[in-house]
Amino acid sequence: MVKIADIREPSTSVNILAKIVSLREAKSSRNGSESIYHYGILGDETGTIQFTAWSFPSSVREGDIVELRNCSARIYNDRIRITVGSGSEVVLMPEGKMEVKRTYEERAIKDLKTSDPYVTVTGVITGVSSRETEIKGEKVTLYSGFIDDGTARVRISSFGVPLKEGLRASLRGARVTEFNGRLSLTVGRQTEILEASEPEIQMSRNHLIWEVTSPVGNVSFSGIPVFVGERSGIVTKCSECGRFTDAEGCRDHPDAEKVMDLSCYFTLEDGTGSMSCYLEGDTLKEFLGFSGDLNSADPVEIHQLVVKSLECIPVRVTGDLSIRNESMRMRVHSIGKITDMEISQELLEGD
Ligand SMILES: [Zn+2]
Repeated sequence: MVKIADIREPSTSVNILAKIVSLREAKSSRNGSESIYHYGILGDETGTIQFTAWSFPSSVREGDIVELRNCSARIYNDRIRITVGSGSEVVLMPEGKMEVKRTYEERAIKDLKTSDPYVTVTGVITGVSSRETEIKGEKVTLYSGFIDDGTARVRISSFGVPLKEGLRASLRGARVTEFNGRLSLTVGRQTEILEASEPEIQMSRNHLIWEVTSPVGNVSFSGIPVFVGERSGIVTKCSECGRFTDAEGCRDHPDAEKVMDLSCYFTLEDGTGSMSCYLEGDTLKEFLGFSGDLNSADPVEIHQLVVKSLECIPVRVTGDLSIRNESMRMRVHSIGKITDMEISQELLEGD
């Protein structure tokens, strides 16, 4: 029998006694035929490890202790995991008890996923605020802020445990959640906040579109706007709620003043994928070099100016991602022109 912490190298004959920490079922179609397999997490007193089982007894449940004989350890996506194959044996230990040592993998913020919910993230905490709230009749201080590790930024919520502004910290065992189409991290009772002492590693927030599949914040992409939306240009907004209005005014605030602004949306292509982006206000005015009065501007001319300034012009955009109707979009908070050369360079580096 080997302990989980000692499984570091690929091997074809692994025997372990472990607790089934999590167990999921999935379908796989290989060579045209569908089959069911299981995957999840095994744990013992020394740590946890992921596993995949091509044959697994249906009587085994989450929380059970099992002896796994003749399994293999393989490297998959840079991480070692256990494979339970047709030659392996899974024996249920009905009387077994085991304290599992929880280990949390270190993740870059851009790679966070709700399907891998308990992780360690190391970055700088910013934008801390707090308010009193009540949970099940008990008063709790809810701390909110952001953590940025250089690859991206996410919101953090902490119930009761204070967050320190500007601290470079490791959040061990934070939980990845998604709310309103954006990812965030929750600091709970099982989470440790440790001051991070190791020197900061330079990481890039310039990513390729295909690399980032989660709605994180403060990420950059370089690409080409291939389609500028036809309603880009002068827009009117309700001064009460900030939503777009038409000629009739805001449905909820018919008496509110209408405010004019500039807004645009486009599809950004970088050769690895595409993403819809939108930007407005001063960020857009600055990019267009527009400093006139919107009230006296010609809407058609302004629309043409937006199209001419963006369409097929290589740009780098930085902003926050969110998922709406299953598609990813970015609220751009900074945009600048770059050269074609810079785009192809980044595509090469991404390979
Ligand atoms: Zn309104």
